[in-house]
Amino acid sequence: MKQDLLNLTPDASAALLTEFVAEQQLPSYRSRQVHRRLWEHPAPSFAAMTELPMTLRDVLAQRFALGRLQLEAHQVSTDGTQKFLFRLHDGQTIETVAIPEGDRLTLCISSQAGCALQCAFCATGAMGFARNLEPFEIAGQVRELLLLVPPLKPTNIVFMGMGEPLMNWKAVDPVLTILNSPRGLGIGARHITISTVGILPGIEALGRRPEQFRLAISIHAPTDVLRRSLMPVNIRYPLADVVAAAKVFDRRTTFEYVMLAGINDRPEHASQLAALATACRAFVNLIPLHPGGAGEFKPTPAREIGQFAQALRRAGVEVAIRRSRGTDIAAACGQLRVERLRRRPPVSADEHGDIQVA
Ligand code: SAH
Repeated sequence: MKQDLLNLTPDASAALLTEFVAEQQLPSYRSRQVHRRLWEHPAPSFAAMTELPMTLRDVLAQRFALGRLQLEAHQVSTDGTQKFLFRLHDGQTIETVAIPEGDRLTLCISSQAGCALQCAFCATGAMGFARNLEPFEIAGQVRELLLLVPPLKPTNIVFMGMGEPLMNWKAVDPVLTILNSPRGLGIGARHITISTVGILPGIEALGRRPEQFRLAISIHAPTDVLRRSLMPVNIRYPLADVVAAAKVFDRRTTFEYVMLAGINDRPEHASQLAALATACRAFVNLIPLHPGGAGEFKPTPAREIGQFAQALRRAGVEVAIRRSRGTDIAAACGQLRVERLRRRPPVSADEHGDIQVA
């Protein structure tokens, strides 16, 4: 199998290209020239690197791969959110969502095809786990959008698409380097967020990285009994351990909390959640439940989400209420799944009216 240059960190691909160029007895600047076309000025193929001599393009293509993802579907929401469905070489499909907001463009990327965690309200969990993505398939989601005409250039990246990033650390670790490195995609570490259910070894590994990557933990319930019923992973990594890991993590953590009517939205839940958030100085993001996930859950009404937020705030916790985006194209968090496998009726955007960030 040919080595895929997009599976490597920028340093590793640069070293390989330097070696290759020396072996081919070519001038050393050729290596830098090729490298720029990996991430900084992405080229769709070696053949498209027309600044290189034809023979060099041929030899490169014989020796190396430049993995692509096939864009199979593209939908645009009335609110400007865009959803992309990519097909991978083995037929698996993954989704990527681009969310514009003012000057920002946040890309929500997938780290696995499917997911093994089976959170009760999540569509990806309902489809089961297929496989881990390789680095080029994760970073490639960003690269493919840069190759569009006109290109879509993200300012922020969130690992909140399909899959659990910290169960695929082997790939996510080099991808973080690719995303952040100036010789990669050059996105600031503070603009890159890893969202996890609380996989402890992964949180520790992320904490050992020197860059200021952001951590978001999907808490969703303030007691072990309730959390276990919603998120089976809580049996392996209970709340106390997750909170302890967030405390050790030397950067500010965000708690994600999806509001499920009658399940986790009572006043006592707010005070229990406030205690957990205070213990590790976490910022809390309340997420309205998006229909089209899994299970029979109902969203907490907006007014009650506001009251829950107020209760947290009175307890000294910083809170934001996340806005629903892209609901009409099933692009909201927890809704990503291959619609071709099982179609759901689309939901109109105003039916779930955007909720202002509190
Ligand atoms: N596995 C990671 C990242 C992917 S999910 C994690 O769980 O954090 C990104 C976020 O969407 C998580 O907080 C997840 O719990 C949430 N989510 C899943 N289904 C949802 C739904 N139907 N409505 C709202 N949020 C949902």
